[in-house]
Amino acid sequence: MAGATRDSLGAMPSRRDARTYDLKDLRDRVMRESGGAVDDSIPQLAEADPELLGIAIVLPDGSVRTTEQADVAFSVQSAVKPFLFALALLDTDGEVLDRIGIEPTGEAFDAIKLESGTGRPPNPMVNAGALLTAAVVDGDGVEGRNERILRGLSAFAGRELTVDEDVARNEHLLGDRNHALAHLMRSEGTLRISADDAVAVYARACAVLVDVEALAVMGATLAFGGVNPVTGKRVVPAAVARDVVSVMATCGVYDGSGRWMRRVGIPAKSSVSGAIVLSVPETLGAAVISPPLDEQGTSVRGSKACDLLSAELDLHVFGSLGD
Ligand code: GLN
Repeated sequence: MAGATRDSLGAMPSRRDARTYDLKDLRDRVMRESGGAVDDSIPQLAEADPELLGIAIVLPDGSVRTTEQADVAFSVQSAVKPFLFALALLDTDGEVLDRIGIEPTGEAFDAIKLESGTGRPPNPMVNAGALLTAAVVDGDGVEGRNERILRGLSAFAGRELTVDEDVARNEHLLGDRNHALAHLMRSEGTLRISADDAVAVYARACAVLVDVEALAVMGATLAFGGVNPVTGKRVVPAAVARDVVSVMATCGVYDGSGRWMRRVGIPAKSSVSGAIVLSVPETLGAAVISPPLDEQGTSVRGSKACDLLSAELDLHVFGSLGD
């Protein structure tokens, strides 16, 4: 078990079982963590309750285990990016891979930077990339793409999701860096719809309302090869799920991705709402929400919860620390 020490006989304590793992105790321990600041890019995020903490895990048999506050709604923000990438791969039959990089940037999520030489967004987990993936999904105009995205995200979640229209409006109005990125991509010829339409579609995708229960099911659908373990329905082909989880592993926590992979060892995506979605291949999906963020824009308590989950359920994809 990662993080565990051998007892006096040299034996490793037995691996805890996710079916009986004490999530309430996990939440209590994570609550003791402090620090970070709530995002203030739009009023709705600035008003988030800093004490909100919800955790959900989804097991291979589709059972969902939750803590209190697992049903509190929040805007998905950047945790939508893996799912936009999945829909873009699906709708373009993989052609989007010619128009977007898949290398980590070592830079912030909204860095005004495209891949040198090609003018492509560096990867689908940063804003430039998500503006592009949202722009290439099926659908006519802003409306058609919005519908396609909401339908696709709902299939990942296994329930009908809705949009917080005020968040969508503010993301569109106040997302100056996203407008800048969209114009930059237009000038490079990588974005083929209008810059304003691209920002509108992406802003509305960020404003989709989820709770950690829905987000954990979404993460689980990627973890289980594209099949939603709750509904039993295939949402994307296994090859798409594998591509998305691979890029979550390398780019999901922006300029903290390398450290995250070493420490937590789980493909993940962070977001400014304070949510983190986790996909442990063939093992489980999980999500945490806690709004105060560190400098990389990752939830402080969420990160702690992921550390503990990884160590205590032995989830590091590159193996245990012990024997
Ligand atoms: N709404 C945010 C933006 O694009 C999402 C960013 C994030 O969650 N890191 O600016």
